[in-house]
Amino acid sequence: MRALITGITGMAGSHLAEYILNNHPDVTVFGTVRWRSKMDNLEDLLRDRRVNQLAQGISSVAGLQRVIDDQTDAKKANLVEASLTDATAVRLLIAAVRPDRIFHLAAQSFVPTSWTAPAETLTNNIVSQVNIFEAIREVGIDPMIHIAGSSEEYGLVFPNEVPIKETNPLRPLSPYAVSKVTQEMLAWQYNRSYGLKTVVTRGFNHTGPRRGHVFVTSSCAKQVAEIEAGLQEPTLCIGDMEVRRDWTDVRDTVRGYWMSLEKGVPGEVYNVGSGHAYTIREMLDVLLSLSRVPIQIKKEECRMRPSDVRILLADCTKFQTQTGWQPEIPFRTTMRDLLDYWRRRV
Ligand code: NDP
Repeated sequence: MRALITGITGMAGSHLAEYILNNHPDVTVFGTVRWRSKMDNLEDLLRDRRVNQLAQGISSVAGLQRVIDDQTDAKKANLVEASLTDATAVRLLIAAVRPDRIFHLAAQSFVPTSWTAPAETLTNNIVSQVNIFEAIREVGIDPMIHIAGSSEEYGLVFPNEVPIKETNPLRPLSPYAVSKVTQEMLAWQYNRSYGLKTVVTRGFNHTGPRRGHVFVTSSCAKQVAEIEAGLQEPTLCIGDMEVRRDWTDVRDTVRGYWMSLEKGVPGEVYNVGSGHAYTIREMLDVLLSLSRVPIQIKKEECRMRPSDVRILLADCTKFQTQTGWQPEIPFRTTMRDLLDYWRRRV
């Protein structure tokens, strides 16, 4: 079986590649990269020589097919260059790889960037997915397709709507969230109109090693590591500390993504989260209890967002009943591993 991971260089994509390589030896992993992709998140796979840089700049299906037939290594993550906003490149990719499963994770995934670059975020996230769907139709394959939706789609959530079920209204509060609602609607429409086997997960926040430093858990862990290393004054800067988030360990989340295609029903949408919400302050308390030095906290207005979602807490009954998935890694372990990740890097 062939599995294609878009966004394999991202946090979730890299963990998903490792999960599949370590647990499903019958699956050959392919992943998309761009010419400018940073390879940092693949460093563990690179160190273990489990990355196979397959093809760059090949512009014919026959040419790429030949490379894939001759050079694919079933024990490694096989990387193919494709920018997903380029319809021609995506058609080439899908025609040559002919995946049985697609995990579509690639996206502009940072909410604040969507405020400063709304058009780019919407174009990137929506057009990339349309290109994949159209390529699948044109090539005439019938893969299972996972779409990484987001809890941000719920947006404005009232206190009596928590924990949030899939049936809750979607009231997106950022351009990023609108892009994810649109991705989900497209998945539904292509399922109904053309029978594409799309399964959407609304992932609640997930974090762990490799989380980009712009995200709050990682920003805090990085600051603690820098303070410990004497690179920053012992003051940690933070925005709104009262918002509540349902954090799952990314390694649990990607196992959920795998199970969504094993046992999920095409055309359906599933919440994937821990079912437990922490305030940013509580998350910080965990981090500070792991710190080797005393640290002060300073609130910074510039870190606040124009309209932030106050609470995101998942009701995952539907997904757990359908797939049997349960998160396994305790929150403290996730934060410890994230802090250790930054300790190694600063
Ligand atoms: P990252 O930001 O870490 O990774 C994003 C990946 O997408 C990168 O590999 C990036 O490649 C790739 N990418 C973006 N645009 C394109 C494009 N046009 N063509 C090819 N590749 C592209 O995201 P995460 O791993 O955290 O998230 C994965 C998915 O899960 C995203 O869709 C995100 O919206 C969703 N999600 C994430 C949540 C979270 O808490 N992390 C919560 C809910 C949903 P490059 O390296 O070249 O930039």
